[in-house]
Amino acid sequence: MKKFLSLLLAGTMLFSMAGCGAPEEPAADNGADETAAEDSAAVTTVQDGLLIWGTNAAFEPYEYMEGDSVVGIDAEIADAIAAKLGLTAQVENMDFDAIVPAVTTGKVDIGLAGMTVDEDRLKNVNFSTPYVEAGQAIIVKDGSDIASAADLSGKVIGVQRGTTGDEYVSDDANGVGAASVERYANGPDAAQALLTDKIDAVVIDNEPAKKLVANADGLVKLDETLTSEQYAIAVAKDNTALLDAINNALSELEADGTLQTIFDKYLNTEE
Ligand code: GLN
Repeated sequence: MKKFLSLLLAGTMLFSMAGCGAPEEPAADNGADETAAEDSAAVTTVQDGLLIWGTNAAFEPYEYMEGDSVVGIDAEIADAIAAKLGLTAQVENMDFDAIVPAVTTGKVDIGLAGMTVDEDRLKNVNFSTPYVEAGQAIIVKDGSDIASAADLSGKVIGVQRGTTGDEYVSDDANGVGAASVERYANGPDAAQALLTDKIDAVVIDNEPAKKLVANADGLVKLDETLTSEQYAIAVAKDNTALLDAINNALSELEADGTLQTIFDKYLNTEE
């Protein structure tokens, strides 16, 4: 995962070039020279002492259930950021499309859910520096006649509701040409519908696609990637102190190798 190391910087550049993602107040830069620990004094959270993160824990390897616990890349990142800020991470598991509203209404402090930075979401929340580069992948049943994106035309495509995969397939401008789009609460539900021939393909983020295929017999992921996306942490627009602290924590966690260790633990780098 060498690629990962340069991501945060690349993401920062992308953000400043696009002129989006940064909070409106100049406060955005105030914390830049501080350490995350120094920032933590200025940080307020929904509940004192806690960093409550909203997620949808059906998105392996980023967040998924193991017994009663939410585990995965984002769970470990939440713990590591919280530790930097002198807080305890506490997860709130919800539907994916409820996460941004939960951030804006102050139900949770952050959305940490393999969440792609996109224009619509930026109207409602700020995003941290990106920490992952991702894209949409196609899953089909073994023996399917769909071999590439071009073959999706006229097919019934399953997606996870409210995700960038949903947007991509549903927006006519992208020319996918689906006969219809079936929206599921999560990836495993969409994969199940595919296995039982209710749909012809699933479009979902690349790493979760690999896990869905690995966890089921009879599914394959195509090599083609449909989009280029970046995951970041969603923070309420008015909580720029928390945004600054999270950005500083992320760069410290990158510099000290913690992020790399987390990625190495969950991502199969053999492909
Ligand atoms: N990356 C996708 C999005 O942000 C899917 C995220 C998810 O399902 N957890 O829409």
